[in-house]
Amino acid sequence: MGARQGSSERLPDNYQLIYDVIREAGAGVHLTTNDLYLRASSRRPGIGISTVYRGVQRLRDLGLIDEILLPGADSAVYEPTASPHAHFRCTKCGSLSDVAYELPQRTITELSKRTGAHISEATVTLHGLCQGCCAA
Ligand SMILES: [Zn+2]
Ligand SMILES: [Zn+2]
Repeated sequence: MGARQGSSERLPDNYQLIYDVIREAGAGVHLTTNDLYLRASSRRPGIGISTVYRGVQRLRDLGLIDEILLPGADSAVYEPTASPHAHFRCTKCGSLSDVAYELPQRTITELSKRTGAHISEATVTLHGLCQGCCAA
């Protein structure tokens, strides 16, 4: 896994379209493959869902987008590659939002020492009730 090709390489048109849709949605928006398919096909009718599936994998491997897999969620969501942050997922309505938090490097170093593992990546997901669901 990881980036195998330079990002300066020209993307196939359909993949570029998927990337544009994700970038234009902007930070804090997390789109499923199905969301991407609906948005992409409204701009370019005829694009197939399998193209969208292959496209997000390619964009992820190139490091252009981040794939977020959450326990309890039906499908992965995608967002433009951003500075590391945590996610909050509401257990009631399923909404997902960004949280400005990053596991401190010294914690990762400490855990690497303790486990003897080389930890290359850490993702933090918080679960609970969102503001709207709390108020309801
Ligand atoms: Zn909620
Ligand atoms: Zn995010």
